[in-house]
This record gives sequence, C-alpha cells and structure tokens, in this order.
Amino acid sequence: MYDVLIIGAGPAGLGAAVYGARAGLSMAVIDQSPISGGQVLNTYEVDNYLGLMGETGGGISEKFRAHADKLGTEFIVDEIKSLEDQGEKKIVHGYEKDYEAKALILATGASHSKLGVPGEEELSGMGVSYCATCDGAFFKNRTVAVVGGGDVAVEDAIFLSKICNKVYLIHRRDTLRAVKSLQEKLFAKENVEFIWDSEVREICGTNAVEKIVLYNKKEQQTSELEINGIFIAVGVVPNTDLCKNLVETDERGYIKAGEDCATSCKGIYAAGDIRLKPMRQIITAVADGANAVNTVVESL
Ligand code: NAP
Repeated sequence: MYDVLIIGAGPAGLGAAVYGARAGLSMAVIDQSPISGGQVLNTYEVDNYLGLMGETGGGISEKFRAHADKLGTEFIVDEIKSLEDQGEKKIVHGYEKDYEAKALILATGASHSKLGVPGEEELSGMGVSYCATCDGAFFKNRTVAVVGGGDVAVEDAIFLSKICNKVYLIHRRDTLRAVKSLQEKLFAKENVEFIWDSEVREICGTNAVEKIVLYNKKEQQTSELEINGIFIAVGVVPNTDLCKNLVETDERGYIKAGEDCATSCKGIYAAGDIRLKPMRQIITAVADGANAVNTVVESL
C-alpha cells in the first residue's frame, strides 16, 4: 500500500510528486496519458510562470516532469475506472489493475466546455477545434474564428493570428475577461477582427466548416460569417466524475477544499483546477500540489 497516490500528471500532480518525493513518501502518479502536463500542453507560450517567462506549454511540462523523474517518482499509465473509500485504505480501480493507498491527491484538472450548438459535434475535427496549438497549423493562411473572451481565447487568437490570414474573435459581451497584458497583445494584431456582443448559434458545413450563424444580442440581428475553422475557448469544466460521489463539490462540480486541499472525505485531497478557488493558474496548481502533500504528511 502506497502512502499516497496522486491522480493526474498536470502541474498540480507534478508539484505534489516533487514535494512528496522530498518528504520521503511512498507514492506514485497515475495518469491516463504517458505525456505529462495536462492543459498546459495546449498552451503555446506561458508568460506568467515565475522564472520561465516565454516557455512553451510543452517545454514547461517537460521541465516539470524531468524534475519529478529526477527525484525518482514512479509514474503509472492507467485509466481510472473508479475510486473506493475504505476509511484508512483508498482503492483506485484502474483498467490495468487496482492500486491501494492511505491517501489520495486528486489532481485531474479540467477539460474544455462545449458551446452546445448545432453542427459543433458533427464537425468536431473537421474545422471545429478546442486546441489552437494542436490544430492551428491545419489553417495556415485561412480564415478562422475563436469563440470566448478569457485567457485561453485571447491566447488562441494571438497564436492563430501568426498562422492564419484572418482571425475573428467572437465574444458574447463587449469586454474581454482575459488579463490586460494578453488583451493588449491581441488588440495590436492587424489581422484580428472583434465581433462583440455575439453568440454562435450554428456551425455549418458539409465535411468541413464553411460558415457560422451569429446572433448579435444588442442589435438583435442574425448574420452569417464564412470561415474555415472555429476554435472554441469558452471555459472549462472540472474533471471530477471519478470522485463526485465521495467528496463535496459546488454546483459546477469544483471540489470544496481549502488551501490545505483537504476535502470533505478524510484522506482525500484536491489539488489544482479541480479545487474550488478564485484563481486557476499553473503557479497556483503547483502550489496546491505542495500544500496537499504537506497536509498528507501531517495526517500520516
Ligand atoms: P474563462 O476564464 O472561464 O473564460 C471563458 C470565456 O468564455 C469567458 O469570456 C466567457 O464569457 C466565455 N463563455 C463561457 N461560456 C460561453 C458560452 N456558452 N458561449 C460563449 N461564450 C462563453 O476560461 P478559460 O479562458 O478557458 O480559462 C480557464 C482558466 O485557466 C481561467 O482561470 C484562466 O485564468 C486560466 N488560464 C490562465 C492562463 C495564463 O495565466 N496564462 C492561460 C490560460 C488559462 P464571459 O466573459 O461573458 O463570462
């Protein structure tokens, strides 16, 4: 039986691994992917992680993973089917096998939200994308739209403006939510056009995205826009399906846990983007990993 099993190998899980290794815990990190990094892997450039300004998301992830590897962390690639709480013992049921630990640190992060409009599902992978850094190259010299007004949408639009002829940023309000420094970078791009106060009502095309139907809420008018691709960046949902019956969450699924990362279930801790907290950044995810380990150590 491990002292602790860390589920998820994004910044929170890897932060926990580094602190857990230094604390001498017997532990392993389980992730369904052999490539560590989580959502950060979808980020082109990270400007706000202390000491690593301008690193790519992939580059930061590799550095985090190398750090955990160097300290001897055991990594297990397995998809988790379910979690079982037997009080002093927690059982992680994987597809490969079952794993046992005295404590669990849940660091499964978050996944992109969908718009939920006609055409989105049908044209997914045929012009509808949720990852600009993964799929942007397919739209070289073409016209694309980005939907959303947060950090991810603005980062995606900046990234795509370097590849595409034209980028439309479609937002449902007339001010962006993204941090000011990113907004300034985007406003300086000549091939980016903003479509404010508008919602995407439908994505149309046969075998590929051809146009979208927009609704301007202020003018109460519907229009069509011809594009080759659409990047949807309208927020995230926490990956808490595995544990929502074990720990208390809010109505959106975020796990209720304080800075010590302790959840409502003794011996289960939540770190990173799955935790209910005001700021979801790489640096706060890594910090959660460290705090969660500290709480585990105190409890053992
Ligand atoms: P976000 O900050 O929640 O922004 C989501 C955006 O999508 C908002 O502008 C929202 O509009 C819009 N939206 C939501 N539902 C919509 C819908 N149904 N239709 C149209 N628009 C919709 O999400 P995010 O940009 O994915 O970022 C997620 C978290 O990661 C955030 O905490 C962010 O700060 C963090 N992050 C940080 C960095 C960084 O520090 N470099 C980079 C990436 C992400 P409203 O504005 O009207 O609500």
